[in-house]
Amino acid sequence: MNEFDLIEKYFNWKNLNSNDLGIGDDCALVSIDAHQQIATSVDTLIEGVHFPKGTSASDIAHKALAVNLSDLAAMGATPKYFTLALTLPEFDESWLLDFSSTLRVLANQYQITLVGGDTTKGALSITLNVTGTISQGRALLRSAAQAGDHIFVSNSIGDAALAWRQIQQKLTPSDQLLQHFNTPNPQVELGCALVGVANACIDISDGLEQDLGHILKRSNVGARIDLSQIPLNKEVQSYIQKTQDWCVALAGGDDYELCFSVAPENLEKLKAIEKNLKIKLSEIGVITQNKGIERVGDFDKKCQSYQHF
Ligand code: ADP
Ligand code: MG
Repeated sequence: MNEFDLIEKYFNWKNLNSNDLGIGDDCALVSIDAHQQIATSVDTLIEGVHFPKGTSASDIAHKALAVNLSDLAAMGATPKYFTLALTLPEFDESWLLDFSSTLRVLANQYQITLVGGDTTKGALSITLNVTGTISQGRALLRSAAQAGDHIFVSNSIGDAALAWRQIQQKLTPSDQLLQHFNTPNPQVELGCALVGVANACIDISDGLEQDLGHILKRSNVGARIDLSQIPLNKEVQSYIQKTQDWCVALAGGDDYELCFSVAPENLEKLKAIEKNLKIKLSEIGVITQNKGIERVGDFDKKCQSYQHF
């Protein structure tokens, strides 16, 4: 049983008010009043699973907050506050100084405040619960893609996955790849700007095809993606040229870029966002009525994205 079946079988109780949203998206949405909803999400980072042993305290702090902010970004929500549950194997002052100072700098940058948490002793694990706000009914939902929408991805993908592959093969990734892997940039500004412009949106945490697949399943549609349009940096491009291993881009996780769909009538507005935010947005395909993902390009192998079980 994979993690998604597990969640569906044991925890999807479907007992919310009709305006609210429970399990199945990047954040849950709960109405405060007729005008506002809060968006909330929790993510855990475990040593050896989400970051290799030996990762610096500063990088762990960055990643822990960034991956959670990324879920707010995927809903178009504005960050407000977070709680921190920290399990540490021992009291280590320099580790805690590094961890807390990086966390504080990033929290200030994204205007999110630490309001509480829990501290325990055990194997290193970091859990953050982030909360943001969004106007009632305006969140970017996985269920909102429409056939005919254009599919976009921000910046480039595959960098973090290539770094992780190289680490596993005992190679040393370039600084640029390592930076993508250890200190991803959550696309909070982009997510907020996409409200009212994009239909569906998700952050790419587990791999492009699996995460786009979540949009397709919940929207009851399919997609055609063009491999030649997937934004890749030079190193990933040359790795794929050498190995033909497209899975690094299609199924590699940890990018924390946004994948979203836009109706044809909103493409002009999207261009304006791209210009204002000085961000690269690449059109990689279209939403179709036929279910599943059709690839355009010379690669038909099935890729396995990361699953915990
Ligand atoms: P993401 O990758 O965006 O963080 P996940 O794939 O971790 O999302 O989770 C998918 C959905 O399942 C989310 O809506 C999440 O809140 C929900 N979920 C995951 N684990 C549990 C659990 N143990 N109990 C209830 N809901 C869960
Ligand atoms: Mg997510």
